[in-house]
Amino acid sequence: MNEQAAGSDFAILNCRVLQACTAGSANTMTVTAPKTIEINGGMITEIHDRPTTTARTELDAGGRIAMPGLINSHCHSAMTLFRGAAEDVTAETWFNDYVWPFEVNLEPHDVYLGTLLACIEMLLAGVTTVADHYFYVDQVAKAVEQSGIRANLGPTFFSSQGKASRDHSFELAEAIHGTAGGRITASIAPHAPYTCTDEDLAASAEAAQRLGVRVHLHAAETIDQTESSLASRGVSPIKVLEDTGILDAGVLIGHGCGILNDDLEVLQKFAGQVGVAHCPKTYLKHAMHVLTPIGGLQAIGAAVGVGTDGPASCNSLDLFENTRLMALTQKQIKRDATQMNTSEALSILTEGGARVVGLGEQCGRLEVGRRADIAIVDLSGAHNQPVHDELAALVYSARSSDVYATIVDGKVVALDGQVPGVDVDGLIKEMKQRLPKLLDLSHGRRIQTYDP
Ligand SMILES: [Zn+2]
Repeated sequence: MNEQAAGSDFAILNCRVLQACTAGSANTMTVTAPKTIEINGGMITEIHDRPTTTARTELDAGGRIAMPGLINSHCHSAMTLFRGAAEDVTAETWFNDYVWPFEVNLEPHDVYLGTLLACIEMLLAGVTTVADHYFYVDQVAKAVEQSGIRANLGPTFFSSQGKASRDHSFELAEAIHGTAGGRITASIAPHAPYTCTDEDLAASAEAAQRLGVRVHLHAAETIDQTESSLASRGVSPIKVLEDTGILDAGVLIGHGCGILNDDLEVLQKFAGQVGVAHCPKTYLKHAMHVLTPIGGLQAIGAAVGVGTDGPASCNSLDLFENTRLMALTQKQIKRDATQMNTSEALSILTEGGARVVGLGEQCGRLEVGRRADIAIVDLSGAHNQPVHDELAALVYSARSSDVYATIVDGKVVALDGQVPGVDVDGLIKEMKQRLPKLLDLSHGRRIQTYDP
């Protein structure tokens, strides 16, 4: 980067911009000829064709593609700590015999270390925003602030922890909302309808309305959960969200693979404030045969984004991989190769993700007036060449390691495989020292039992 005299704070020169094509149908994306993106105060203030700038700092993108920063719409970042520690098991075994017993061992500093590692992985992979749902949210916020990523953070609670714990999680959400120079927003974060009482869900909706934030939770994660809810209480998990006021407050639903056609009618009444995070790699690993009804949700006007879920189930925090799996599984499940074309997949990844995490006006597109959250992707690698179609390359052959630079709020937070200012080797060394304690199951307890 070079220092210059005056003008914008920062400019990205010689970048080909991935943009939604406003003249065509809603989901058509295109890659422009080389342009210059001018940034002031963390916001895109001009995109022009001149090959020069008077910006104080500049980055030459060398003809690479600038795309809206990738948005991870559902994650449990600190679970990098448990990456690969529970494989080839059913969802029930995964929760009851591994993950929820592991989480008994968590101390606040573990969550900081795990989250910071996740933030580094995501920034190196072009991810500029993550919607996170986890415990010890003050530690999550500390890692987010240090790394430079943007995040919507939900302090997770279960009803089994008691009312004081629930109310404390509401206080934490209020305390972190708007911090890190505005990069952190909060959600109220009950775990799920099968682990939280209706009373606690209603209190969550009330807290979200009072704080002007939304609710982020798991709901109708699988068709089995929906059938269990119908059998035990006569209503689907989505109907529970309506009855407790969650839909009215605005909600980010993790997974929603068990959303029924009847549920779509319920959701339609609140569609402008409903987002669903689709995390296909986790679904494939857990052998789920019914997937999020993406087309049905889009048809009623609800937002759909791509997520990784936690790295204990997804292993990587790679949204190129998850976007690819989303497109492939939609084609497969509908037995129709014309479904989920490359424009649509990229639109869900970027603009859809921004809507899902409540940043639909600020992020998700590279255009004047939006935050300068940008991933610069290099398609020169042998695995992408020759590039007949940039959109196809981004969906079907690009790797997260093809990301050359990641910019959040107009700041370069990852460049050429490095995250400046973070001692990654030291972080991993410290984490490894804590792993024996984290994986020790001799206590015979778990934080919660999976019995939806
Ligand atoms: Zn989840």
